Amino acid sequence: MTRLQPVHIANTRSLWLQEALAQEAGPVCPPLQGGLMTDIAIVGGGYTGLWTALRIKELDPSVDVTILEADICGGGASGRNGGLVLGWYAKLKYLIAVCGEEEGVRLAKAATAAVDEIGAFCNAHGIEAHYRKAGTLNVATTPMHVRDWSAEVAMLERHGIHDAERVLGPGEASARGGSPRYLGGLFQRDAATVQPALLARGMRRVAIERGVRIFEQTPVIDLQNERTPSLRTPGGVVIAGKVVLATNAWAAGLPELRRAIIVLSSDMVATAPAPERIAATGWDGGESITDSRLMVHYHQVTHDGRIAIGRGSGALAYLGQVSPTFNQSARRSEVVERGLRWLYPTLGDVPVTHRWAGAVDRSRTNTLVFGALDGNPNVRYGVGYSGTGVAPSLIGGRILASSVLERDDEWSSTRLNTGAAVLYPPEPARFFGGLLVRTATRIKEENEERVEDTPAPVKALASLANARTPKRPVKR
Ligand SMILES: Cc1cc2nc3c(=O)[nH]c(=O)nc-3n(C[C@H](O)[C@H](O)[C@H](O)COP(=O)(O)OP(=O)(O)OC[C@H]3O[C@@H](n4cnc5c(N)ncnc54)[C@H](O)[C@@H]3O)c2cc1C
Repeated sequence: MTRLQPVHIANTRSLWLQEALAQEAGPVCPPLQGGLMTDIAIVGGGYTGLWTALRIKELDPSVDVTILEADICGGGASGRNGGLVLGWYAKLKYLIAVCGEEEGVRLAKAATAAVDEIGAFCNAHGIEAHYRKAGTLNVATTPMHVRDWSAEVAMLERHGIHDAERVLGPGEASARGGSPRYLGGLFQRDAATVQPALLARGMRRVAIERGVRIFEQTPVIDLQNERTPSLRTPGGVVIAGKVVLATNAWAAGLPELRRAIIVLSSDMVATAPAPERIAATGWDGGESITDSRLMVHYHQVTHDGRIAIGRGSGALAYLGQVSPTFNQSARRSEVVERGLRWLYPTLGDVPVTHRWAGAVDRSRTNTLVFGALDGNPNVRYGVGYSGTGVAPSLIGGRILASSVLERDDEWSSTRLNTGAAVLYPPEPARFFGGLLVRTATRIKEENEERVEDTPAPVKALASLANARTPKRPVKR
């Protein structure tokens, strides 16, 4: 029997979920009571679980699919994220390192095409999720982060990906992004923004329309990882032909996945609506923005003219346990707010009205880690989005759907579907080592902001946060 860790439900919902739930008219998905048999049981009703269910129904509408969600669909990262819909061109080198060149390029193109597919999905199903495709800016906010972006553009060109990125000079980056701190950067064309919870709740609605059974407030307590797997919930039992674990960061509690991912918080704040003030900065083109730090700032302007900004890598989970601090922390929210005021000094008096956090599952290779739990082909898992999961979860859904339907195709056979390529060290080294690396990264990035050097040992420690390359990439 495998126990699943509990989900601590947030007392305060994200801005996005508050908005989405306020305008929702149903249907209600009550908790599971009693016994149930189903072809495919999916644990977790975030983007991964929902895309998997939708894809299964698309491929074979006769298959009976059931989602069990501890909270509400979108209660996890899918209803709390920054809403930056990004493809995988920025991750091309990591994909190639794990999958080889041909497969890496194919996956990067597929995840980038997913940006458009999400927009088309919203259109086709009347999901008003504020989808807007206006690209994204990756900027340097200190001279020490100014780099040769043309090398990244050239790498894409070498792989037949043309016109997807354009280098911005200092004047253009700062004018377009509305901040004097932006010293140059890269414009990436194939990116969008979305109101993430409206997307998750819209996907839930479409899944129900396609006949997917959804039970919310139904935490799975344990799993019998057998040929015919079963799941126990507080009010019932589910016997399934196949099980999909789409539990994101919460999967880090499973012994098999404990070393595949680390769980870090990402913290967000949103300002009051101030559309004229934001437009006055010059940032009114609808592009999302990320900076070049590892503890990355990511931000978008919302439909009603707020800045929603987040910062990565706050808290670190011991033994992969997603504790209540991953729902919100006043101290970490303050750090994000300071970042906002530093990036946008002219908006110093625009109040922050919403604060929340969520858990991010970072893999050692910065790419997906999907596979069969303990080698059982009837129990599949999918984690490792590493902070970029909004568009890639559509690819994750394809991998999981093809796997449980036993289809032999490019999704089930991807290298990303064969477990972790590189592992983290075991606890307690992972946690205490992680704390050291995180502290070193924070010191280095604070020094860089002040354009000061960092002592070599601290730099060396911080560099351990970089993605690792597996010894032998698989050639396909
Ligand atoms: C604050 C934040 C900002 C982010 N910003 C971005 C961004 O701008 N762009 C981007 O691309 N990515 C971003 N990400 C990452 C992205 O949101 C995730 O990669 C993506 O949502 C993962 O979807 P998921 O379905 O796998 O996970 P989740 O949405 O977390 O869903 C997992 C679900 O499983 C449920 N669950 C867990 N355990 C159990 C159990 N035992 N029984 C039943 N249910 C269970 C949880 O309640 C949860 O609803 C961000 C993440 C966070 C936290």
